[in-house]
Amino acid sequence: MKAIHLLVGTRPNFIKITQFKKLAPAQLDIKIIHTGQHFNANMADVFFRELEIMPDYFLDIKPDTPVMQMAEIMTGLSKLYQQIPLPDALVVPGDVNSTLAGAIFANKTGIKLIHLEAGLRSFDRTMPEEHNRVLTDHLSDILFVTEPSGLLNIEKEHLKGEYHHVGNTMIDTLVGFESQIELSNIIQQLGIKRKFILTTIHRPATVDNKGELEKLLQLFNRLSSDYDIIFPVHPRTLKNLDAFGLMEDFRKIKGLLFIEPLGYFDFQKLVKDCALVLTDSGGIQEETTYRQKPCLTLRPNTERPVTIDEGSNMLVPFDINAIMNMITSIENGTYKKGGIPQWWDGNATKRIIEILMQKL
Ligand code: UDP
Repeated sequence: MKAIHLLVGTRPNFIKITQFKKLAPAQLDIKIIHTGQHFNANMADVFFRELEIMPDYFLDIKPDTPVMQMAEIMTGLSKLYQQIPLPDALVVPGDVNSTLAGAIFANKTGIKLIHLEAGLRSFDRTMPEEHNRVLTDHLSDILFVTEPSGLLNIEKEHLKGEYHHVGNTMIDTLVGFESQIELSNIIQQLGIKRKFILTTIHRPATVDNKGELEKLLQLFNRLSSDYDIIFPVHPRTLKNLDAFGLMEDFRKIKGLLFIEPLGYFDFQKLVKDCALVLTDSGGIQEETTYRQKPCLTLRPNTERPVTIDEGSNMLVPFDINAIMNMITSIENGTYKKGGIPQWWDGNATKRIIEILMQKL
């Protein structure tokens, strides 16, 4: 029997590990550890329940600075493994502080480190996630890659671990829960009657800056004459809108539904049925590519270039005219169609487990 522990801490982490326990053979003992980095009911608990990934262990770190969070995660893991044996491998998904804390912990305790979604690079060192990705990849023993750019980046950086292009476990979750997504009645619940845009904005580069949030306000004012805009607001965005005194201006826009973060099924139903997505999220660029849904990413770069080269995603500068031009091209049908990248077929977790069974 081999033991593998999956260390998760944030919403996008949870969505990347949903198929592991379901697919694990009897010789593989898989446990889930939640660091507590995301802790709200609507950023964590709803995903455990809907996606059937209730953690086996909770570290319960307190919300604090990134350094304190990482220190607490490493301390929490040390205490946990005083009570239970160390696993054969620790799996860390994505690019958040929990990912890097887990990577350092595995390295210092001599257990195998496995990185899910390895090799992605935005080459933008102002993004905290970029540092987490680079450092985690350099410490990893086995790197599982979602797209061709990841393979190239790993080769260029001469990383020590072995790597495998297996596809995208986030897409496994979409495929695995398709019937539950289809059953969501969120469109009726929200009373959406017109064509609508789904939007999520939470990256520090946008939401820590009052000027950028004011541009978003102008954009929504302009779009709301033709579209309903569904805006599930990330806690970081909410905090900043409040701090900059912009909350009321957003709430006043007719046609803007300013709502709490949604559960996975409801959110994905909106992705399926919307006219387009406006976002600065990482994972949503991939989900829209899988759905072949137009996605305008309001960022100067992406660590997921396959969504642009092959998928339905486009990077658009945060300029109202540029965004309006892209929306016009979506409306008149001249926007690109997009295809589905290799191995984004719902079986990435299965391929990963097969490799781990041989390697551990
Ligand atoms: N998501 C969700 N509810 C929401 C917003 C996002 O379930 O209200 C999901 C989304 O489908 C995707 C993940 O959360 O699977 C992306 O998380 P986020 O954008 O916070 O993180 P990033 O991918 O940018 O790291």
